[in-house]
Amino acid sequence: MDADPTPIAEHTLALQEHSAGHTARARQVQQLLRAGGLRLRFPAVLESEFRAHHDDAALRIFRASLTWLALLYLAMAVSALTVLSGSHTGVWPLIFAGFAVIMVMAWGLASTPLMRRRYQRTVTTLAALMMILATINPMLEPDEAFRTLLHIGTVFVVVVVYLGLSLRLPYALLAGWGGGLPPLGLAAWFGAPLDWTLVVPTYVGASLLCMVLCFRDERQRRRMFLQGELLREDQRRIETLARELSRQALVDGLTGLANRRQFDQALKREWARAQREQQPLALVFADIDYFKPYNDLLGHQEGDDCLRVMAGIFRSQARRATDLAARYGGEEFVLLLPGVDMNGAVQRAEQLAEAVRLCQLPHPRSGCASVVTLSIGVSVMIPQADDESPEELVRRADAAMYRAKAEGRNRVVQADQEPMAGA
Ligand code: GH3
Ligand code: MG
Ligand code: MG
Repeated sequence: MDADPTPIAEHTLALQEHSAGHTARARQVQQLLRAGGLRLRFPAVLESEFRAHHDDAALRIFRASLTWLALLYLAMAVSALTVLSGSHTGVWPLIFAGFAVIMVMAWGLASTPLMRRRYQRTVTTLAALMMILATINPMLEPDEAFRTLLHIGTVFVVVVVYLGLSLRLPYALLAGWGGGLPPLGLAAWFGAPLDWTLVVPTYVGASLLCMVLCFRDERQRRRMFLQGELLREDQRRIETLARELSRQALVDGLTGLANRRQFDQALKREWARAQREQQPLALVFADIDYFKPYNDLLGHQEGDDCLRVMAGIFRSQARRATDLAARYGGEEFVLLLPGVDMNGAVQRAEQLAEAVRLCQLPHPRSGCASVVTLSIGVSVMIPQADDESPEELVRRADAAMYRAKAEGRNRVVQADQEPMAGA
């Protein structure tokens, strides 16, 4: 498992840009909230998000309210039957049957993809059909008292069209007026008996009132959507920050390599695994030779650059998913190699040392070479007893590294094979 190779500064920059993106959007939302106004329209992106969000909720409400609509319909049918004598003639049963057909269509469509994709249009069509039937109904009724009742019935339909189906205002207008006015117009054109004293206070009056309520309802929904957007933006920002913080807590700021904390966690985990599976766990512990004089002569900036080069070499040596290259401290780097035996680990350590030498970073103050070099200790253990701890692996690698220093630096030394060690 290698660390994220991107240096920390770039991550911080990306995070700031990400935050800035968040802020721009949040600012736009706040502006819209402050502005209020009579326009039922957001800028393009927000508008399409609002519509999708709105239609999702609308469809849920629509499905849930089908039962209520059916009950309302039954109540109206029963009250009509109660008011009328058995000898009554007229076409209202046919119209009521028409309503029933529309309700069945609504039921059938409720869970189709068409309804999910085109909620507003589909429901507008159904609502307009209802409105047509509701306005035709009283025109064809010979009985005056029942006709009055049917006029009142149009008020129910108007309320359902504007307020009961979550239609956005333009669609509600289309269904309400588009469904109601043509039958009234045709009736007026052909001179059919039309009782305007009833049409105006019922259909027209209810429509005007419901238009205003529908407008207010949509404005309120839009406001709630914007407030929800602010909350969702905050939540997204917090999640991003939390992710970045926990990532930064595990990465070395200078080199972008795994830091000591991540190494400690990995060591514990791999130690437990090695103990369970009785597999070797290898640790390569490297320290830059004469790094203090390097810093003293060339400056800390050069020293930092050198550390970054070392980090790059260690990173490229962590080849498998479970390998981990980390900066252990100052100018000390480690390579944790699960499942690798002593021969393999020494080979990897030699490759590391050789890769560093091949970089040929000049080191005028080195006591052992003309370029930057490493002293490396290698330890391998198959964890045996429970009282052994992963620190033992580190202690042995560290001791071997100090022997490499003592023996002249720029070399790889194996840890002693102590009795408890299985490797
Ligand atoms: P030896 O060969 O025995 O390891 O000698 P050394 O000089 O490398 O060891 P010493 O422990 O005396 O010095 C380590 C130096 O590493 C001291 C410190 O200035 C430098 N160092 C530690 N961390 C950083 C860092 O982040 N940036 C820079 N530029 N230098 C660092
Ligand atoms: Mg050191
Ligand atoms: Mg050193």
